[in-house]
Amino acid sequence: MAGIWDTKSKVPEKRARELLKGAVDFHIHTGPDIYPRLINDIEAARQAKKAGMKAVLIKSHATITADRAQIARFVTGFPVFGGVALNWHVGGLNKYAVECAARMGAKQVWMPTTHTANYLKYVDHVPMFAKAMPKDVQGIRILKGDGSLVAEIASILEAVAKNDMILATGHLAPDEGITLIREAKKAGVEKIVVTHPAASFVNYSVDQMREALNAGATYLEHVFNDCTPQVAAPLPPSALGDPIKAIGPEYCIMSTDSGQVVNPPPVKVMTRYIQEMLDYGFSEKAIRTMTAKNPARILGL
Ligand SMILES: [Zn+2]
Repeated sequence: MAGIWDTKSKVPEKRARELLKGAVDFHIHTGPDIYPRLINDIEAARQAKKAGMKAVLIKSHATITADRAQIARFVTGFPVFGGVALNWHVGGLNKYAVECAARMGAKQVWMPTTHTANYLKYVDHVPMFAKAMPKDVQGIRILKGDGSLVAEIASILEAVAKNDMILATGHLAPDEGITLIREAKKAGVEKIVVTHPAASFVNYSVDQMREALNAGATYLEHVFNDCTPQVAAPLPPSALGDPIKAIGPEYCIMSTDSGQVVNPPPVKVMTRYIQEMLDYGFSEKAIRTMTAKNPARILGL
């Protein structure tokens, strides 16, 4: 089957580009990174600014991005935000990394991604990560055998709540994510995002997505990277459209999770995502809810 970039959308690109104005890309992987990346922080900001977008959030699996976001903002005059993902590179479930990121203005704290025990079961789903994965890496779990959360989580949730940051589920399994969300609410975390629940290596059912929202998640973040050749088995765009339709755009964010060298630049990925969702049948208002209103709201813009 031809990859998504070998095909064309039925919806004119021009219509989608109009909808980019005021949109936020809540999830871009930029360089410098330990993995190959298409563009750096400053290029991502410049391209989004040129497209008329409102803001971007840069993510790394390896390092804090909040400090880099400040530099990109300074250079471009465009709102760039960052965060920290709690992989082993920053010490894993490490509250000091969270507090450090907060002091540098981080907006989002992702639970571990590439280093979760859950993700390592599916490591072949993303060849780029599989190739670079150290053989001795120990998968991070947040649940103990009895189903309760490991001790480190409490201090992390406290730091996220205190600094009014967004908690994201990263690459945790659905049962871990839902347990975390319940506990986060109790700890006073107000902003919670379920990270790409439709991705093959996370794989929430629609019922589990609803459960996550009922447990206190603010939004489900659906990413177009799931449909691209970056993953070993790209999903059809309907695999994102179906759960969004079942649950409602008011509970969803559309972001790209782009920056891979096998994909076009983030602005182009977002454009195609919008085209596909228009083609799927969502109204322009629904697209704006997911690309502009919801991400801007959770970022406090
Ligand atoms: Zn990502």
